[in-house]
Amino acid sequence: MKTSSRTVMDYMQELANVDPRGIGRLRRRFQIAEGTPDEILLELAGLIRTIWGSPVERRKQGIVKILTLILKMTFTTPIGDLQNEGAPWLANTFEVLLDSVKLVEKMAVCENPECATPYYFSKRNGQKLCGSDVCVGWAQRQAKAKWWASHGIEWRHERAKQKGGKK
Ligand SMILES: [Zn+2]
Repeated sequence: MKTSSRTVMDYMQELANVDPRGIGRLRRRFQIAEGTPDEILLELAGLIRTIWGSPVERRKQGIVKILTLILKMTFTTPIGDLQNEGAPWLANTFEVLLDSVKLVEKMAVCENPECATPYYFSKRNGQKLCGSDVCVGWAQRQAKAKWWASHGIEWRHERAKQKGGKK
């Protein structure tokens, strides 16, 4: 992800996934207002995570309100002025707000329970993982384990039959 391509979507995603230790990086990357304390940022992160993990209908109801709140709280400028502020990546704020119903349909949570950044926007229907190498690896191990679990039973059956035949 290039810095020049930062978008409100990137901000939402990174805020949702932020680790308290990574808050400084988030601040710098998205030029968050200095007047916004870390505690508020973490609270907003919790709020967007709640929305992200909700059923799509609830997301649709809450997204505009929550997004407006987040942008107001973190950039301390009225929504209408965001485009003219020193954070050019916010230029697509209106598009995102207008498009937020489509956006909520893409909000997904990675299936890997140990994923470090589980909140993501899905790129295709039926996507179940955030797409990180770690989670792809996890899914492959899961699939393998599942395969062995079912085939292991057959294998033991076969072996038992063979053993029985030899007696
Ligand atoms: Zn993941």
